[in-house]
Amino acid sequence: MANILVTGGAGFIGSHTCVELLDAGHDVIVFDNLCNSSVESLQRVEQLTQKNIIFIEGDIRKQQQLDEVFQQHQIDAVIHFAGLKAVGESQKIPLAYFDNNVAGSTTLFKAMEKAQVFTLVFSSSATVYGDTHPSPLKETMPTGMPNNNYGYTKLIVEQMLEKLAEADARWSIALLRYFNPVGAHESGEIGEDPQGIPNNLMPYVTQVAIGKREKLSIFGHDYDTVDGTGVRDYIHVVDLADAHLCALNNRLKDTGCRAWNIGTGNGFSVLQIRNTFQDINQVDVPFEYSARREGDVATCFADNQRALDELGWQPKRGLKEMLKDSWNWQKKNPQGYRST
Ligand code: NAD
Ligand code: UDP
Repeated sequence: MANILVTGGAGFIGSHTCVELLDAGHDVIVFDNLCNSSVESLQRVEQLTQKNIIFIEGDIRKQQQLDEVFQQHQIDAVIHFAGLKAVGESQKIPLAYFDNNVAGSTTLFKAMEKAQVFTLVFSSSATVYGDTHPSPLKETMPTGMPNNNYGYTKLIVEQMLEKLAEADARWSIALLRYFNPVGAHESGEIGEDPQGIPNNLMPYVTQVAIGKREKLSIFGHDYDTVDGTGVRDYIHVVDLADAHLCALNNRLKDTGCRAWNIGTGNGFSVLQIRNTFQDINQVDVPFEYSARREGDVATCFADNQRALDELGWQPKRGLKEMLKDSWNWQKKNPQGYRST
């Protein structure tokens, strides 16, 4: 069993990964500045698992804070979630994204090197493929140019990590390219808690269903897809969390830098999501069609064979479970973590 430092561990994917890590017997130290989360998520993780988390409030851009963490704790590996993730915001304030996601990451990697910790799992994204390749997207395809600054920061960090592993064979790095994480822990105790108007489809759908928003805008219905609406590869956040454990086990045994797609390999359209959500949960989700959103592609889904073959990972939860669990979380927490 290992001591794992989880940056950004109070967030959506981080909190679910903490549950899986603790359940697997690892010790977890969360380092998070709470700019997009609250400690409530970690308290709930502790309740769910009946295990303790060491929480350190801090910022990955602060070298001294990180150095102290590594001095005070014996860390075996790092799972690095911390960063900003709002695509629209990244177009308006790119420097904040370069600072948090790129400079923050290099500061973390420097602290790791100083402490002689070389095992890392990094949260990347399918956005690094750019928008020119046809789906299914494979890790053997060259990365492209993401069409927003958020995606660009993921590409830069991936490239830095590849160079780092080339230069120093002690590093063992997993680049996990997430497709579209949705769902929530089946207990409904932890889930996605976006601030303000959600950018992503699933929290928007659940907020319409609960009556917080009037209707869903479906961005474009003239794409070359099954029903004209955009197709994506939705992955249950608990399956995604599980992929981090598998990647960690793989990396603790091997060196170098390797990328894995983490998706189900199935694409669903926006309309299919909305209709299935209604059917499964017996709740109305009114919608209207609106213009295409800038930068969106028609279809994006994974070839996940590499992760299946090499990580021994397999997504276990289908679309219905994703939609049921998203709704369960929303219903139990209409105001997210703020209701407590
Ligand atoms: P999230 O915002 O819920 O979690 C990110 C966490 O990082 C938050 O708790 C936030 O407070 C913390 N954080 C941000 N900047 C920090 C800093 N400078 N120092 C310390 N902590 C900081 O987001 P999430 O959905 O859980 O995403 C986790 C990671 O996965 C992010 O790197 C994100 O870019 C990546 N990712 C997410 C998606 C998605 O759709 N959710 C898709 C692909 C990749
Ligand atoms: N989408 C939509 N309405 C919304 C949010 C998203 O129609 O309010 C569509 C979007 O155009 C895309 C899909 O839902 O086809 C998934 O979008 P999301 O922002 O969740 O993830 P992305 O794949 O863009 O990262």
